[in-house]
Amino acid sequence: MHNLRQYQVPLQKYMAMMDLQETSERLFYKLLIDHVEELLPVVYTPTVGEACQKYGSIFRRPQGLFISLKEKGKILEVLKNWPQRNIQVIVVTDGERILGLGDLGCQGMGIPVGKLSLYTALGGVRPSACLPVTIDVGTNNENLLKDEFYIGLRQRRATGEEYAEFLHEFMTAVKQIYGEKVLIQFEDFANHNAFELLEKYGTTHLVFNDDIQGTASVVLAGLIAALKFVGGTLADQRFLFLGAGEAGTGIAELMALEMSKQTNVPVEEARKKIWLVDSKGLIVNSRWESLQHFKKPWAHEHEPINELVDAVKAIKPTVLIGTSGVGRTFTKDVVEAMAALNDKPIILSLSNPTSQSECTAEEAYKWSQGRAIYASGSPFAPIEYEGKTLVPGQANNAYIFPGLGLGLIMSGAIRVHNDMLLAASEALAAQVTWENFDKGLIYPPFTNIRKISAQIAADVAAKAYELGLATRLPQPKDLVKYAESCMYSPTYRCYR
Ligand code: NAP
Ligand code: MN
Repeated sequence: MHNLRQYQVPLQKYMAMMDLQETSERLFYKLLIDHVEELLPVVYTPTVGEACQKYGSIFRRPQGLFISLKEKGKILEVLKNWPQRNIQVIVVTDGERILGLGDLGCQGMGIPVGKLSLYTALGGVRPSACLPVTIDVGTNNENLLKDEFYIGLRQRRATGEEYAEFLHEFMTAVKQIYGEKVLIQFEDFANHNAFELLEKYGTTHLVFNDDIQGTASVVLAGLIAALKFVGGTLADQRFLFLGAGEAGTGIAELMALEMSKQTNVPVEEARKKIWLVDSKGLIVNSRWESLQHFKKPWAHEHEPINELVDAVKAIKPTVLIGTSGVGRTFTKDVVEAMAALNDKPIILSLSNPTSQSECTAEEAYKWSQGRAIYASGSPFAPIEYEGKTLVPGQANNAYIFPGLGLGLIMSGAIRVHNDMLLAASEALAAQVTWENFDKGLIYPPFTNIRKISAQIAADVAAKAYELGLATRLPQPKDLVKYAESCMYSPTYRCYR
């Protein structure tokens, strides 16, 4: 830590950590676990974003497996070249929508590498069981195509049939070589492919999309926690989203599901409490013909509204969620309208990185006279408001996916079911204490994350057994203990 802290530039810390991962994996994980709050932003967002942007020029050694279109027909052989055979989790990207940074092509590899290091550090999955994959189907990023250090194919992205066939070959090869119980996490695919891949392979493979499902689960957890303290049920709320992409519609769908379970109403009925705004305004029935399929469930009967502030006034939401990727969109007007409607307005500005946050923590507190319950995608420092310190929570997907993954692996689950995501949300929400909430937090502190992950894993595994999707039999008696016993720990052996 002393060495690392001498670097002033975050990217240098990142490079030092990546070197350490290569030369002393155990020490890398020891540091990451013991200093998780300090090092998470180095090995993951925001620094990993910059690393991906500059990946070609800081490249030293390949850290994951690149599979390019040139290897079409040979993907199985390529997978066999990876030194490890007992793979349990694959994180795969095609680099088309890296964080909020757009198409970074092959340079997106930083994301699978970073996510998998969190699978190990936070969820205890053995490092050797993790496989980072980047599918190289080209890039439409003109700057990268011209960049002399670009490490990927210099061609525009394959699409349509060609893309689908290549992905299918990959999915088939993975199942053939690693079996039915390997978890495949889709990461940072553009939304036109993400929804399709999840739907297509959800019934044949153990697949999970963190941008859609992981985000949904972590945000739902925050809401359940908030309601535990302010009172009321999910079904009492009215929700308005700015942004109707992977994150927005993913969250909306999981919330509708939870509401329908809690109140025994059909999910179609529950969806009516949820409204979304996209770049063309409120999603309403009159836009039906031109709506992408994943937006259609959210088209309700209403006159068209263009401005967010007008939508707030018309819909009267109790919860406002930003997933637009566009910063500064929760303006003073918008927050004030929320504060006029609600005693405790819940405002989540989830867009990343920090510059894209819909509003800052300070703005949310100031414009609501300190009444807002606020969380964000990117971290914000604590704020002093009228003598009280308010700590904005971070709706970080890293609360959910490592524990969820561990739960799937340890139960030998063969499919991901939405009820497992709900179980993960409830497990996380249960970890939030009154003390946390009193400071403004709707998420628990990260310091205990391995304990939290074990709880999540246990509840996810219990759900897998209940649904008949678990293959590890017999079911362990104490799932929390079992989860903890499964976790990789970077302890040094004593040779004395
Ligand atoms: P996405 O699939 O591209 O969706 C973006 C959505 O925002 C689209 O529906 C788009 O509208 C809409 N939009 C864009 N500009 C807008 C504007 N000016 N006004 C209103 N709506 C606008 O992206 P995504 O994967 O959902 O991610 C969105 C953001 O959420 C990113 O910044 C990401 O970092 C963040 N995120 C945060 C977390 C977290 O906090 N844990 C997790 C995941 C994602 P059209 O459909 O009309 O184009
Ligand atoms: Mn992602």
